[in-house]
Amino acid sequence: MILEAVNVTYEYPDGTRALKGVNFNVEKGQVVALLGPNGAGKSTLFLHFNGILKPKRGQIRVEGEPIQYTKEGLMKVRQKVGIVFQNPDDQLFAPTVKEDVAFGPFNIGLEVEEIERRVKDSLRKVGMLGFEDKPPHHLSGGEKKRVAIAGILAMNPQIMVLDEPTSGLDPRGASHIMRLLYKLNKEGMTIIIATHDVDMAPLYADKIYIISNGEIIKEGTPMEVFKDV
Ligand code: ADP
Ligand code: ADP
Repeated sequence: MILEAVNVTYEYPDGTRALKGVNFNVEKGQVVALLGPNGAGKSTLFLHFNGILKPKRGQIRVEGEPIQYTKEGLMKVRQKVGIVFQNPDDQLFAPTVKEDVAFGPFNIGLEVEEIERRVKDSLRKVGMLGFEDKPPHHLSGGEKKRVAIAGILAMNPQIMVLDEPTSGLDPRGASHIMRLLYKLNKEGMTIIIATHDVDMAPLYADKIYIISNGEIIKEGTPMEVFKDV
């Protein structure tokens, strides 16, 4: 198992019980979809996967190892697990696309040549070569999403976690993102997607979890999960 949430319970400081004993398993190379209505706990669970949030009870394991909530432990897990947030504006803040994608690799102290190579490779993968010097806020919604994905790819993570990756996009932009994720998965990336869009997930997922009110209420292959709907 490349990623596991074991009996994870989380409560926000105001007392909201956002996760109630969640178990969630992902195998290497899978596409796993987390479905559920707004407020169900999808983002809260994802924020546990790279240690942004720490479970009140339970454990998160990456490649079998529990996350260590120390500076070094968090740095390690963040190189393995990349999270693409729902709103790219939360993620894109550098003056140009190039600097934005370079931010992570720069932060972990890579050499300039390596940073440049990773920026170029990542932008090529998402189809955004040629946009290097543009300010991110001049891009369309779909383009911003792709740059946010490039920023995560530049860190060479093994697992990519995407919160509502197609929200706010037109059908063409959405299918562009889904095709990109499908391609990355074929190249070996493990992918976890949260969505409230029931139409899209069954097409791509090896496994589906349905979350409601902080609890996983169903899990299985798309066939198993949707057979009685
Ligand atoms: P989803 O991603 O499925 O829409 P969230 O994980 O964002 O759901 O939210 C789960 C629950 O936690 C909701 O009841 C939400 O209102 C609550 N919540 C989310 N963020 C916070 C926060 N920072 N403080 C308090 N409650 C929060
Ligand atoms: P939107 O941003 O409106 O959601 P897209 O992301 O599909 O839509 O495309 C946005 C812009 O990026 C368009 O001008 C399109 O021509 C261009 N584009 C789309 N795919 C590629 C690609 N693989 N390489 C270069 N440019 C692309």
